[in-house]
Amino acid sequence: MNDLALRSLTKRYGPAAAVDGVTLDIPGGRFICLLGPSGCGKTTLLRLIAGLETPTEGRILVGGEDITDRPTHRRDFGMVFQSLALFPHLSVGDNVAYPLAIRGRPKAERDRRAAELLELVRLPGLAGRRIHQLSGGQRQRVAIARALAVDPRLFLLDEPLSALDAALRDHMQMELRQLQTRLGITTLVVTHDQKEALTMADLVIVMDKGRVQQMGAPMEIYRDPANAFVAGFIGSSNLLPATLLDRSMIEVSGRRIPLAPQDRVKTAPGPALLSVRPEDVRLAEEGLPARVTFIRDLGESVQIVLDQDGREMTALFAPRERPDVQIGETVQLAFAPGGVVVLAP
Ligand code: ATP
Repeated sequence: MNDLALRSLTKRYGPAAAVDGVTLDIPGGRFICLLGPSGCGKTTLLRLIAGLETPTEGRILVGGEDITDRPTHRRDFGMVFQSLALFPHLSVGDNVAYPLAIRGRPKAERDRRAAELLELVRLPGLAGRRIHQLSGGQRQRVAIARALAVDPRLFLLDEPLSALDAALRDHMQMELRQLQTRLGITTLVVTHDQKEALTMADLVIVMDKGRVQQMGAPMEIYRDPANAFVAGFIGSSNLLPATLLDRSMIEVSGRRIPLAPQDRVKTAPGPALLSVRPEDVRLAEEGLPARVTFIRDLGESVQIVLDQDGREMTALFAPRERPDVQIGETVQLAFAPGGVVVLAP
């Protein structure tokens, strides 16, 4: 299996670091999403791995082998970029077989492999077409087929689906995921779309300011964010300034709130942030007072927006559990046991 290891990988442009000391061990055969806000360094990290950028510092290892100084074309990686970079003057088949042509493989082998790959990406029989005769989704598949032509050790994709409309994008997410599962290639996808990352990936790497903030399975990142950035960036989270008194008690707006043993405490007593997902907010007899400012029916759930001491909070309820409250009413909030994460401020 081609696992990928990064050791203190850094890329500086002038004094600023686009990628800042990234050390990661990425297990082979997985589907990994690199996720983060615009400018966080995810594209630069992918380009460093691909060999399209030279690191200022650090090493890259694939399957235990140091490839840092190896040129791109000798890394045997498959790559798909947002622009796709297909060749308009070549047929679909010749586009797909292009990596074999530059390796000097004979025509018969190229045609056979192109047919095989077009079958794999569900475009059988389209080898003779021109690129401009294809839809956006079909072009995406041609780019994917071409990237797979040489049995890549790593499959690297930069925002491969961002140009597609929502429905096609959902569909291609599923196809790409199924294809990767069948082939078992270690796959890295850059995306700024958290829904895409959470639905496709085995592992999500969350980046901010050139650094890895957390790597974990989608549920782990969602349920157990490592810090306030991840809690705020992934899903919607209520983040409340608080004071942690001890392992079993936290204070918010002067009210003491007991913590459950399952709640995760990631900071020492003192100033803290209480993070709780909307689905873990409950109404109680006694708790944290908040005023209902808005009630929104979303069909599969009911969202209640609250003002807690000048901060906006949201709570989410199943339609059957919709609480009987009115806008303007003051309610008491409690949190589901295990739903609270206490983070460093
Ligand atoms: P986006 O989602 O907007 O593409 P990103 O997370 O992929 O963002 P990068 O493209 O990796 O971010 O850029 C990270 C930082 O490095 C940014 O501040 C960017 O301006 C800077 N940067 C990237 N490439 C260069 C370059 N060639 N020269 C100078 N600065 C660069």
